[in-house]
Amino acid sequence: MTASIGQVRDIGHVVVLLGAPGAGKGTQAQILSGRLGLAHVATGDLFRAAVRDGTPLGLVAKGYMDRGELVPDAVTIEMLLERLGAPDAAAGILLDGFPRNTAQAQVLDEALAGKGGRVDIAPYIQVPEQDLVGRLSGRWICRAQGHPYHEVANPPLTPGVCDVDGSELYQRTDDQPATVQARLRQQLGSLELVVGHYRDHGILRTVDGTQQIDQVSKDLLAAIADVTDSRG
Ligand code: ADP
Ligand code: ADP
Repeated sequence: MTASIGQVRDIGHVVVLLGAPGAGKGTQAQILSGRLGLAHVATGDLFRAAVRDGTPLGLVAKGYMDRGELVPDAVTIEMLLERLGAPDAAAGILLDGFPRNTAQAQVLDEALAGKGGRVDIAPYIQVPEQDLVGRLSGRWICRAQGHPYHEVANPPLTPGVCDVDGSELYQRTDDQPATVQARLRQQLGSLELVVGHYRDHGILRTVDGTQQIDQVSKDLLAAIADVTDSRG
């Protein structure tokens, strides 16, 4: 497949946030994108918006998401490259939920190289598998923008209402226990391979995701500053 990002002339820093479902990628991406001035690009959010809007892409994606499977690469990659062509991506991007397999990682490398860019750093938020089910089954996200909360670990100030934008909170259908098990079973193996891809490129940084949210953010910011300062 020829990977092409489209209109954007150059792309700033590219950070790929890695982690299992429930590791805290969305939580951290929300904090980090503001602090670093990077566009937060989450493929799960893009798919949920397409499902909500009933677009052809949403109709394709829904069955896979409901079964906890990855959406096929052809549609996922096309959607991602289109998003990376939007003007805000020129300032740099924080990817959350992409790549999820090595084919996606390779396409991303090629597409960035075509713009004179590269992935600068891939921080890996590591959380043991036994913690993930509790994280996902207690997760609530907001309707407007997908801001994540947890009923015990990170509750909203007002129950059922997003602190950031005031929209209603809901539980994702794929966060029900049966689908959670399927997602972990299907996706953890390919996550390992993606982690290996970035380790081989020397840009993987592992952060302990079992710490408090604030501490995870500090560790991620330190790891990112370390690499982006030295690479310019
Ligand atoms: P989580 O935050 O729990 O890791 P996401 O919101 O990122 O989940 O993704 C939800 C679902 O959307 C995934 O289970 C999968 O079906 C689909 N999805 C998201 N990103 C990708 C991707 N890069 N490749 C294929 N499918 C994806
Ligand atoms: P991901 O995007 O990787 O699937 P989320 O950011 O949506 O993960 O987080 C999954 C759940 O875990 C949410 O309910 C979130 O509030 C909670 N969570 C995130 N970070 C932490 C943390 N450091 N400690 C405890 N719970 C957390």
